[in-house]
Amino acid sequence: MSKLYLIPTPIGNLEDITYRAVRILKEVDVILAEDTRNTKKLLNHYGISTRMESHHKFNEYRKVTEIVQRIKSGEKVALVSDAGTPAISDPGYLLIKECIKENIGVECLPGATALIPALVSSGFPGDRFCFEGFLPHKKGRKARISGLAQEKRTIILYESPHRLLKTLHDLQQVIGNERMCTVSRELTKVFEETIRGNLSALTVHFSQHAPRGEMVIVISANKE
Ligand code: SAM
Repeated sequence: MSKLYLIPTPIGNLEDITYRAVRILKEVDVILAEDTRNTKKLLNHYGISTRMESHHKFNEYRKVTEIVQRIKSGEKVALVSDAGTPAISDPGYLLIKECIKENIGVECLPGATALIPALVSSGFPGDRFCFEGFLPHKKGRKARISGLAQEKRTIILYESPHRLLKTLHDLQQVIGNERMCTVSRELTKVFEETIRGNLSALTVHFSQHAPRGEMVIVISANKE
């Protein structure tokens, strides 16, 4: 019975992929990739010659019905994103939902994602946490941040380097200066680092050291 495989790919270090992921990428008929040029580097590294097709946020709506039909007629399909686990702040949700609706098996392999190493490295409790992905840039941003102020679980946010300072500043305005946070950048890469401190200290740090690379913000829970 054919199914959809969701395959996590490295978030930096090419060694962070499982043996099973490599085997499945070799065995499927087609790999749906967010950016085929990017995934090509990974496939070359592991000697995988499977055909690729692009599947990204601009064509997923258009392609989803066709892909579901192809899986139903026996095609073996794997979905990868540029980095980490598909459907985690990346394309995939739509196809997964449609496959489930059509009684197609969906199997997500465990593997690389940025939120878990950032959470664990933060040193904040990892038994209960909430992942908020990217904050909205405009509409709903204030309400979302206000909602986080009272959150009793550790909070994880994704952010881009050029918006980090604005986000730290906005968080500070609502949550206050003292809440402890971490920013993990360049996870699994040569210049990986985790900066720890309260919101005020982190804002000062990144005002003096321009934010570079990919980053995850982790905010400790409201303990009041
Ligand atoms: N699907 C991915 C995952 O499973 O983590 C997330 C993709 S999302 C488009 C990209 C965001 O993930 C970045 O803006 C950053 O917040 C985070 N990220 C990805 N790779 C990272 C890395 N090596 N170090 C720190 N953050 C990373």
